[in-house]
Amino acid sequence: MKSKIELLARKCVQNLNSYSSARDEFKQGGRFIFLDANERFCDPNGEDRLNRYPDPKQTPLRAALSEYNKVPIDNIFVGNGSDEAIELLIEIFCEPGIDEIIITPPTYGMYKVCADAHGAITRVAPLTPEFQIDSKALKDAINHNTKLIFICSPNNPTGNAINHDSVLSIMEMESFNGLIVIDEAYVEFCPDKSFLKYLSSFDRLIILRTFSKAWGLAGARVGMAFSSEEVINLMMRKKPPYNVSTLSQEAALKTVKDSKLMTELRSEIVGQRNKLLEKLSTLSGVQTFNSDSNFILVRINDATKIYQQLIDRGIIVRNRSQELHCQNTLRITVGNADQNEAIFRAIKEINNV
Ligand code: PMP
Repeated sequence: MKSKIELLARKCVQNLNSYSSARDEFKQGGRFIFLDANERFCDPNGEDRLNRYPDPKQTPLRAALSEYNKVPIDNIFVGNGSDEAIELLIEIFCEPGIDEIIITPPTYGMYKVCADAHGAITRVAPLTPEFQIDSKALKDAINHNTKLIFICSPNNPTGNAINHDSVLSIMEMESFNGLIVIDEAYVEFCPDKSFLKYLSSFDRLIILRTFSKAWGLAGARVGMAFSSEEVINLMMRKKPPYNVSTLSQEAALKTVKDSKLMTELRSEIVGQRNKLLEKLSTLSGVQTFNSDSNFILVRINDATKIYQQLIDRGIIVRNRSQELHCQNTLRITVGNADQNEAIFRAIKEINNV
C-alpha cells in the first residue's frame, strides 16, 4: 500500500519503475571484473578509477553526513547542488498546470524558475517588511493544490533567519497536507536557528543544505536534503542514477570528515561580517540589516548608481533593488579582510563624491 506521502506525488512518479543502474548491486573493488556498464577498462591516468561510474547512492558520503548531522542515512538525499533537490521536489510533487508551490518573496529565485520550467503554479505570500513570515498571508495562499511551501532560512537576499513559530503554526494546520521545504543553504552561519530538530516530528518537512557556502565547495556542486524516508525514497527513485560525480563525492566526503576547517573559517567570516556591518553602518545614507549568513544586505541611496560605480572599480556585488521590500539595496558577500576593506573604502569614497 502507498503511504500518505507517496500519494502526494504525481501519479507518473508513484508508478515509476526507476532505472536500475549497473553500480547499484556490486561495489567497485578488487574482487570483481566489471564488464557490466560499457566503461573503458582504464581512466586517462591509466588507473581503474574515474573510468567507472560513481556510486549512485553516495553511500560513504551519506554515512558521513549521517554521523555529522545525527540524522539516519535513510533520511538523507545527496544531489548535484541543492538546486537539483529543489527541481526534483517540484518534478515529483507538482502536476503541471494543477499543483502549486508557495514562495515568500523577497527570496531565492530558483523556486519560481523551477516551478515555471515544470508548469507548476507559483503563489506568493510576501514576507513582512521586517523580512519575517506573514502567517496570515501564507495561510491565505494555501489551498488543496498546494504541494510545496518554500521557506529560505537564513533568507537570501535579506540574510536573516526565519522565526520558528511562524513555520510551526503551518505544520500544525490540519487543512494543509503538503510539504514544507526549509532551504538552509546558509544555516552553518547560525546553527542554533536550524529547523532540523523538527524532522522526526513532522514527516512532511524537508531541509535543504549545501556544500556551496560555508563548506567552500560551490564548484563541486553537492547539496543535500534531509526528510522522512518516504520523501527521500521518492527523491532517490526520481533522480538520475549518477547525479553526483565521483570527484564531487570525494571532495564533499573529505570536507565533512575534516570539519575543523569549516568551523574555523566560519568564525573568521562571521567576525569579518560583523566588522563590515559595523563600519558600513557609520556611513551616512547607508542602512544595514542584521545578518545570520555570509552576506549582508545594505540599503543605500542611489543603489543602482553605486552598483555601477562599484563595477567601474572592479567590485561586483548584487543589486537587489528590484526585489520586494528591497528598494535601493545591494547584497554583499563577505570576503576576506582585504576584500571587505576594498568594498568599504569604495562605498565610502563613492558616497563622499
Ligand atoms: N538555496 C539558496 C538560498 C541559495 O542562495 C543557493 C545558491 N545561491 C542555493 C540554494 C543553491 O545552492 P547549490 O549551490 O547547492 O545549488
